[in-house]
Amino acid sequence: MIETFRRQTFFIKACIQDVLKPGDSAIDATVGTGEDTVFLAECVGSGGCVYGFDIQQGAIDEAKKRAEQQGVLEQITWFCDGHEHMDQHRDIVCNPRIGAVTFNLGYWPDGDPGITTQPQTTLAALEQSAVLLRAGGILTICAYSHLTGQAEKEKIEAWVQNLGRGYDAYSFEVKNHRKAPTAFIILKK
Ligand code: SAM
Repeated sequence: MIETFRRQTFFIKACIQDVLKPGDSAIDATVGTGEDTVFLAECVGSGGCVYGFDIQQGAIDEAKKRAEQQGVLEQITWFCDGHEHMDQHRDIVCNPRIGAVTFNLGYWPDGDPGITTQPQTTLAALEQSAVLLRAGGILTICAYSHLTGQAEKEKIEAWVQNLGRGYDAYSFEVKNHRKAPTAFIILKK
């Protein structure tokens, strides 16, 4: 059971847990440390699958170790590729069970802060994710205002506001923590 308000990311996880069921599929668009990838793999269980994207092989290697330690390596497929290419992977496009796509934007905490998500590629990946999600699926985005994240966050806000009917979009902010991310939670009907 997730302690919903202990950390802001736990709120997101509680929302995902509500939607993602054993046997489902999920995409972690920004693997980083692999914490979220492992969480998604635990939600879908051994009968489900998770696709993990990161442009840094170092992040994927570390995340694989974490997944192995947690006993969920089998159900994860790793792509050292930009998330903006997710619709070029046939097994993803042909998968009708994608119940969650998660984005935790920014840089790999163990790597070069200069290698970070970029507005244009993030938006391309968000567009694709909205299409790939199954009915009732959930798309979550953790966006940051500090450092280079501000421009990206503003573009996401505009994208979210223009989402057509068929999606419900919510946002969540911790008002008194300057560096806390804004979470956008988008549910497809
Ligand atoms: N979800 C992660 C976790 O649980 O630790 C944190 C993700 S970290 C804040 C952001 C990651 O996005 C970095 O590892 C970075 O390499 C990756 N990234 C940057 N641009 C990307 C892109 N176009 N496609 C996929 N991953 C990207």
